[in-house]
Amino acid sequence: MKCPYCKAEDTGVIDSRLSDDGDSVRRRRECAECGKRFTTYERVELSMPMVVKSNGHRVPYEREKIRTGFQRALHKRPVPAEYVEAAIQRVEQRIIALGEREVASRVIGEMVMRELKKLDDVAYIRFASVYEDFQRVDDFRDAILQVKRPRKKRAAAHKSRAA
Ligand SMILES: [Zn+2]
Repeated sequence: MKCPYCKAEDTGVIDSRLSDDGDSVRRRRECAECGKRFTTYERVELSMPMVVKSNGHRVPYEREKIRTGFQRALHKRPVPAEYVEAAIQRVEQRIIALGEREVASRVIGEMVMRELKKLDDVAYIRFASVYEDFQRVDDFRDAILQVKRPRKKRAAAHKSRAA
């Protein structure tokens, strides 16, 4: 397991326990290089469905692929690793909750996108721009407006300035 801070390979397990729902193992790890601590959740993968890719190929579910998606979108964004782990956990729980033997990778992508939207606006737009294959500037504008919509205060301030 690589250290998320300095990318060193040499990390040790300090503590290991089963999660509340009983299907993943929570591990506290410490990096031998930089001494920082982090948490991993390793899922018992029995209940995960096969993933159907857009080209129709079926591949086994891999948590690492979801993690990579999050990490790329969140590159240099100020989001704590624990939040990302919790988001990955929620995506997996939602996949399991579907109760299907197969799930389209597109469905998983949408779940990841929803979680990113809650975590970080910039990461969400980054992910959406690649995932939704934004072609036009308008697509970016629409996505940004979507992110901004709940912030009524800002919109109100803008309106009063315009008036
Ligand atoms: Zn380290």
